[in-house]
Amino acid sequence: MAERSAIEWCDATVNFWWGCTKVSPGCDHCYAEEWNRFRGTGVWGLGAERRKIKGATSLIRKLQRDADKFEAEHGRRRRVFMQSMSDTFDNEVDDAWRADLFAEAAGADRLAIILLTKRGSNVAKMVPAHWLDGGWPKHIGLMVTMTDHIEAERDAERLAKLKKRLGIPWIGVSIEPMLGPINLRRLRVSRDLFFDALTGVYSVSPVRAHRPPPIPEPLPGLDWVIVGGESGKSARPLHPAWASEIARHCRDTGTAVLFKQWGEWLPKIAVQPHSKSVLRRTETIELPADPSPFAVVQLDVMTMYRVGKANAGRLLDGREYLQFPEALR
Ligand code: SF4
Repeated sequence: MAERSAIEWCDATVNFWWGCTKVSPGCDHCYAEEWNRFRGTGVWGLGAERRKIKGATSLIRKLQRDADKFEAEHGRRRRVFMQSMSDTFDNEVDDAWRADLFAEAAGADRLAIILLTKRGSNVAKMVPAHWLDGGWPKHIGLMVTMTDHIEAERDAERLAKLKKRLGIPWIGVSIEPMLGPINLRRLRVSRDLFFDALTGVYSVSPVRAHRPPPIPEPLPGLDWVIVGGESGKSARPLHPAWASEIARHCRDTGTAVLFKQWGEWLPKIAVQPHSKSVLRRTETIELPADPSPFAVVQLDVMTMYRVGKANAGRLLDGREYLQFPEALR
């Protein structure tokens, strides 16, 4: 929890509690759990008691009081990421703690608040009743984390439906760590129906063109996509084709995209000539563009170098992607 954050896409983090339970492959190397292990506070996993953080209320109120100063300096609202060390929609958290978080977040209306969850199916069950009835605060956006195409097919359409139904001002997905290719423009939502998460438009499988199912009304498209590779000692590599496709799709649809980092592993095509001597001493792996165990042919195999997060940087296809949705600019 901090008034300043090292996370590239926010200015500050506020945590009303610490602790969580892993729910996805994206949680395998959770930095918050690592940090918790280091601190020895024992708040991780099923049945483990979460730890209430006393200073959260005073911090968010201070950020709200300082809003004029921040806006004068930066020309925009302060971006505040709630619960960087846990998940707002964790089933094992006392509802009274969550009620505190929602009340304080709703009151901090001079901030641009970011709720980020891996538990999108809990959102409508857990937010205050009046948020469901036209009262979703206009300064709070909602993001869902996903790591591969299967998770995107499960979560992206539901997020768009939530935006439409609850009047959420903006929505986004955080694809961190990216563990496989994701085509956000072609997510299968039923046997013959596909959903384009960037435009919100449905389409029918061409093989069903003679007997197409009804096509639902369009939903809102995503406002923001964050992509990033994994850091830490057990980090998994990110194939450049996966990130490039997301960036291209966002460009094509005018969706804000932020490429946060390569993580520990840098692809051969992104290596600068002057750093080649360093790379001779680093670990390498060969990563196919389709890492599925069912892939018949391994296409577009990329040599990945373990150079460390700081060296790998965040240039994708030779440029920085650091875009924010309108509500966060
Ligand atoms: S949901 Fe987030 S905080 Fe919880 S274990 Fe997974 S990565 Fe960590």
